[in-house]
Amino acid sequence: LFPIWLHMYLSGSTAYITLPSVLVVGPPGAGKTALITRLERRTPQPATTYTSQTLNIVELAINEDGTSKYSDDLDASGAVAKKFLMVDTPGHGKLRGATLARLASAASTAETKLRAVIYMVDSAALAEDGGIAAAASYLYEILLALQKRMSAGKSSKAPPAIPVLIAANKSDLFTALPATLIKSQLEAELGRIRTSRSKGLLSSGVGADDVDSASENDDWLGEYGSKAFQFGQMREFDTDVTVLAGNVVGDNGSGPGLDKWWRWIADKM
Ligand code: GDP
Repeated sequence: LFPIWLHMYLSGSTAYITLPSVLVVGPPGAGKTALITRLERRTPQPATTYTSQTLNIVELAINEDGTSKYSDDLDASGAVAKKFLMVDTPGHGKLRGATLARLASAASTAETKLRAVIYMVDSAALAEDGGIAAAASYLYEILLALQKRMSAGKSSKAPPAIPVLIAANKSDLFTALPATLIKSQLEAELGRIRTSRSKGLLSSGVGADDVDSASENDDWLGEYGSKAFQFGQMREFDTDVTVLAGNVVGDNGSGPGLDKWWRWIADKM
C-alpha cells in the first residue's frame, strides 16, 4: 500500500489527489503523527484520513484569506474554505530512500501540488549527545533533493518555490533547545556533512581530473565552495528555510503551541 499511495501523492500527476499539499518529514519520534492527528481533530470538517502503517494523509482547510485558526470551525461560520492535504511520511531509515526519490521527482515538475515541506525535530532530543547529527543527516538529504529539482526539471517551466519549515517541536519541555540555537547548530552540522562528503569523494580513489565539476557539485548543499553553510543559501534554489519553535502536546501555557506553524502553512496555501 505504501509505495502506491506515496507514488500517487508525490507524483502529483494523478486524478486522485489534486489538492495542494504539505509534506511532513523528520526523524522518528519528532511528533509528526501527533501534529497531523491534532490538526485533523481540530478541523471542523470530518477529515478524511487514509491510514496505513507507513503513510498518513489528512485533509485540512483554511479560509479564503488564510486567516483562520487551525481550531476554527469553518463549516459553522459558513466560510469558503481552501482545502489542502497534509502527508505524514515515515521517518524510519529504511523508508527514507523512497520518500526522497519521489520528493525529488514530484518537486521538479512545474505542475507539482507540493506547496511546502515541514521538517519536524524534537527540540529536547537535539540537546542530547548526537541529537543534532541525527537530525541533520536526514535534513541534508531533504534539502539536497529540493536543490536538485532545479536541474532535474522535466518540463521547460521552472518548478515553483518549495519552502521548508523546520518545526522545532516539544518546546514545552524545559530541556528543549531554543530555535535560534537549533538553527545555528543545524547549519554548522550541515556544513560539516557537506565538507566530509566532498572529501569522501576526493579520497575515494577518483583522480581530481576525473571529477567533473557537475558531479562534484551534485552532493554539495547550498552555495558551491562557500565556507560555512547557511540556510539562506537555499534561496538560490527557490527554497526558503524557516525555523519556528512550537509544541503539539501540552500547550496549556507551557509552550507556544502550534499557531505559528499554522500561520506559516496558511501563508503557503
Ligand atoms: P513521529 O514518529 O514523528 O510521528 O512522532 P509521534 O507523533 O509518534 O510522537 C512521538 C512522541 O512524542 C509521542 O509520545 C508524543 O506524545 C510526543 N510528543 C509529540 N509532540 C510533543 C510535544 O509538543 N511535546 C511533548 N512533550 N511531547 C510531544
